Amino acid sequence: MSKMFELIQELWFLKRDLVSDDYDRALYRLAEEIPQMRILEYPTGEACWTWRIPEKWTCHAAYLETLDGRRLIDYADHPLHVVSYSLPFDGVVSRQELLEHLHVHPRLPDAIPFVFKYYERDWGLCATQEFKQSLSDEHYRVVIRTSFEPGKLKVGEIIVPGRSEQSFVLVAHLCHPAMVNDDLSGVVVALEAARALLAGPQPYYTYRFLILPETIGSVAYLSHHEDLIPKMAGGLFLEMLGNDSPHALQGSFQPNSQADLCLTSALMMLDEAASSAPYRTVINNDERQFNAPGVRVPMLSISRVERRDSPTWPYPEYHSSHDTPEIISPDRLQASKELLLGLIQAWEQNQYVINQFKGEIFCSGYGIWIDYRTNPEGHRRLFEIMERCDGERTVAEIAVELNIPFQSVWQIVDILQKKNLVTLSRTPQSTNPR
Ligand SMILES: [Zn+2]
Repeated sequence: MSKMFELIQELWFLKRDLVSDDYDRALYRLAEEIPQMRILEYPTGEACWTWRIPEKWTCHAAYLETLDGRRLIDYADHPLHVVSYSLPFDGVVSRQELLEHLHVHPRLPDAIPFVFKYYERDWGLCATQEFKQSLSDEHYRVVIRTSFEPGKLKVGEIIVPGRSEQSFVLVAHLCHPAMVNDDLSGVVVALEAARALLAGPQPYYTYRFLILPETIGSVAYLSHHEDLIPKMAGGLFLEMLGNDSPHALQGSFQPNSQADLCLTSALMMLDEAASSAPYRTVINNDERQFNAPGVRVPMLSISRVERRDSPTWPYPEYHSSHDTPEIISPDRLQASKELLLGLIQAWEQNQYVINQFKGEIFCSGYGIWIDYRTNPEGHRRLFEIMERCDGERTVAEIAVELNIPFQSVWQIVDILQKKNLVTLSRTPQSTNPR
C-alpha cells in the first residue's frame, strides 16, 4: 500500500475542524513525515486583512434523543452529525424546531452531509434524509456541548529552496472532518511531491507548499507574508485527486500568465483524458485568495472534479459521510502525483527561447532536418517552432500559439539548445531589429 494511502487511512476520521485539536493532530502527524515542515501559528482574534482568526472549536458531546431517552443520533458515531462550529444547545424542542436545525444531504438519501457555520453562528445537527423522514414524535431532546475558546490557527509550510527567490506556491486544505477526497487527497499528493522535489536536484524556482484550513488559512498566510507576494510567480491548488474521474485543470484569474500557458499546454501529454477550463468554472477553493485584488498571484487548480453539467458534480460523495477511503484509489493518487511532477517539470523548463541564429536554420547541415515525405507533420512543426524562437516567446507561448503540447515544443527547443542554436533566458531578449 502506498504511503499516501496509509496516511489517509490514519488521518481521515479525525475531526479536522478549522481551528481544533484534531486539525492540529493531523498537521503535526504530517510534519513527522516531512521534517522540513514548519508550523506557523495565528492566534484567535488576530486581524488578517478584512478577516479575523476564529476561535478554536471543540465538540465534547452531541446527541439527539427521544423524550424517553432513546439515543437517535450521536456525534460519537460520526463527527459529521454536528454542524462544524455549531453553538451549544441543551433542551427539548418541537419536531418543527428540530427540523429547522437538522441538515440533510441534498442528493444522497443515506449520507450525513458536511455542514459548517464558521461565521453565521447557529446550532445544528446533521443526519440522513431517511432518518429525517422517520421523525414522528412531537418533541425531542437535543444536547450539543461545544466550546469556543482562544486558540491558534495553524499553517504547515514546506519550502523547497530554489536557485531563485521567485516561487511557485502549492496549496491544499486540511479542514474537512472525516472526509477523504475533499480534502486529504490533495494534502497527501502535495506532501509526496514536496518529498520528491526535496530529494531531487535543486530547482530554479523556490517551491512553497502550504497545508492550511480553507480560505482563512490562505488569508492568514498571505496577510502575514506580503513581502513574498511579488515573488510568487505562479501557483497551483490541489484537492479531490482520488475519485474516479480524469484530471481537471482550472486556469487562474490571469489566463495569459506564464503559469496558465505552461500548465495548460503541458497537461495534455500528462493525462490525455484531462480537461482544462477557465477560472471559477471547475471548482472554487483557496486559489481565490491568491488570485484576488492586491495579491494577484496566478494560481490554477488541479482536481478530478467532474464536468459542471454532471448531475453528480463535483463528484457523487462530495461533502458527505460517503467521502471515505473506499471512493479513492492508491493508483489514482500516484497518477496525480506524477502528473503534478510533470507540470512542475514543464514550469521549470519554461523559458524564453533566444535564437543564436539569423534567417532559417540550415537544418540538414545540423542534422535536424525532418523529411517532409516520411513525416510531414514533424517537418511542419519543426519549422513552425524554429520560426518562433526569437527571444520574445517562451516555450509555453510557442506551444499555445501552435496548439501543441508543451513537451513537443520542448523536445525541439532542447535539440536546438544542444546544437548551440538557441539559449534559454528567464527574461525576454528580443533579437528582432527595431
Ligand atoms: Zn469542501
